[in-house]
Amino acid sequence: MDKQHSVMLVDDSLAMLGVIQIHLKETEFKVVATARNGDDAIKAFCEHKPELVLLDIVMPGKNGIETLGEIMGIDDAASVIMASSLGTRELVEQSIELGARNFVQKPYEREVLLDVMRNVIDHNQTTQ
Ligand SMILES: [Mg+2]
Repeated sequence: MDKQHSVMLVDDSLAMLGVIQIHLKETEFKVVATARNGDDAIKAFCEHKPELVLLDIVMPGKNGIETLGEIMGIDDAASVIMASSLGTRELVEQSIELGARNFVQKPYEREVLLDVMRNVIDHNQTTQ
C-alpha cells in the first residue's frame, strides 16, 4: 500500500464512527483520532494535525459548522469534508463557504466516501 493518509473522524454517533472505521479498513486512510463533539474535535485537530477531517454537521452543543469555522481559524489549509444527512443542503453550502472541501451524504456508502476522500487528497497533492 502507498503512503497512508491520516484522518480524523468527528460524529456524535458512536455507531456512525464505527461504520466509517469499517469502511476505511484496508484502505490508504488511517484513522488517527475520533471525536464526538466539536470541542474534542478542535483539541484533537491541534494535537494530531490530520491530513483530512470528516466532520458531522448535526451534533449537540457545538455543531459541525461552528467546529469547521474554528478549525479553519486554526489552519486555513485544513482539508475538511462535511458529513450531512438529507435536508441539510443549506448547511452544506454554508460549510463550503467557510472552507470545507467537499461533503458526503449520510448514510455513508463506502465507495462514495472513499471517492470524496481520494479526490480531496489528490487535489492537495496536485496543488502542493
Ligand atoms: Mg450527528
